[in-house]
Amino acid sequence: MKDLADHGPEPLFAAQQAGVENRRLTFGLAERRTALHRLASAIRAHKAAIIAALAQDFGKPEAEVILTEILPVLQEISHTSRHLRRWMRPRRVAPTLTTFGTSARIAPQARGVCLIIAPWNYPFNLALGPLVSCLAAGNSAIVKPSELTPATSALLARLLADTFPPDLVAVVEGGKEVAQALLALPFDHIFFTGSPEVGKIVMAAAAQHLASVTLELGGKSPAIIGPDADLEQAAKWLAFGKFANAGQTCIAPDHLFVHVAVKDRFLALLRERIAHAYGSGPTSPNLARIVNDAHAARLAGLTRDALSRGARLLLDGGQQGRGLGPTLIEAITPEMAIDREEIFGPILPIIAYDDLAEVLARINARPKPLALYVFDRTRARVDRIIAATSSGAVGVNLTMLHYSHPGLPFGGVNNSGIGAAHGLHGFRAFSHERAILANRFSALPLLFPPYTSGVNRL
Ligand code: NAD
Repeated sequence: MKDLADHGPEPLFAAQQAGVENRRLTFGLAERRTALHRLASAIRAHKAAIIAALAQDFGKPEAEVILTEILPVLQEISHTSRHLRRWMRPRRVAPTLTTFGTSARIAPQARGVCLIIAPWNYPFNLALGPLVSCLAAGNSAIVKPSELTPATSALLARLLADTFPPDLVAVVEGGKEVAQALLALPFDHIFFTGSPEVGKIVMAAAAQHLASVTLELGGKSPAIIGPDADLEQAAKWLAFGKFANAGQTCIAPDHLFVHVAVKDRFLALLRERIAHAYGSGPTSPNLARIVNDAHAARLAGLTRDALSRGARLLLDGGQQGRGLGPTLIEAITPEMAIDREEIFGPILPIIAYDDLAEVLARINARPKPLALYVFDRTRARVDRIIAATSSGAVGVNLTMLHYSHPGLPFGGVNNSGIGAAHGLHGFRAFSHERAILANRFSALPLLFPPYTSGVNRL
């Protein structure tokens, strides 16, 4: 760390570049698996410290730390270790008439030195999940955790320094100045998780070196309840998706369209569900706190602004310091900030609708969201919604669970992201797909000048 303060990240970057060169012939399947197993053991050994760091950073309940921070990384490691041999194997490509006599294959190759920039909302999972794919693909990594979760950032620095040599994995702590100093270096790949605004800064910096990027961004993910939905299930899933991590989740349902015919019954069930899960509101032990005072003030401001412009509270969650209780609000209009900004907190706007076409038009008038949730038992209506919209992913009769399916690509589209993470998709994000064509016989005579062999008759 002292070195970094004195000389910036260049010496570390140079050490990683040398490390990548030195490991070109030696960082094979067995070595990568060993690296992943070491990471898994370190995570298990630090379980109590991880729980404590997240409690310190934003009062995240222990069960949520285990379910949403620790287990997803361990699952990523075991899924990756199990399938890595197959993913690393070059894939044969059948010959064509014009390349007759050659053999073609696609060989995934490490990109080189990678930068992983993580956000604060799942600060452990979203730093280490990408690292699993990065190592599996044979790269080195500099990890830059978020400065807004300092206890988790310090823990990551310690844990990774104890587990890996710095020319393979290193943590550089700090805020946006540190991120920008790192972004000035010619990384081979940049994996960024955060807001679309900063995503644009990252992509512009990557363009200076033509570094490839994976951008895992956010936005306003809508949910729709159709007239034929299982309302009890919908209430359970929506309360979980919206209020886990106190709504500070990139794939949390941002706002909810509910069909007028079922609105009242659904709201009664949702209120019941909230009372059952988060009875004591802002002080509930099942509810994480807002990450800092500025974000708590931002969220309170969103509600205040909406109410001053005619919105109505359906459930006042209350606030106690950085504790914000589940809040339901209706009569949202486009001039309200809550209708334009990603909410990223435990406030759910409810919008009653009658005409599905209007809902679809409203969704399509906005940047493509990271997730779209549909609750309905009528298959044709679900299919219509899927076909008429675009989003990173779709959840049908559930929220958030698609994140934990290791076979599905996790990512956005345009404003909600570029590229994908998880399993094979994460491995590919950190790999260069190298085309290799080998000549087995002599070349086709038609190919070379002088062109006297009748090529113009083809
Ligand atoms: P953020 O964009 O503010 O910060 C993310 C990271 O970028 C941090 O490490 C931060 O230090 C760094 N950073 C901030 N400003 C920077 C700048 N000007 N230049 C370079 N680096 C800078 O995001 P956040 O507030 O930490 O996280 C919330 C956002 O992340 C939300 O939009 C959410 O939807 C999104 N998110 C997306 C995913 C996903 O997987 N798609 C997951 C979690 C969060």
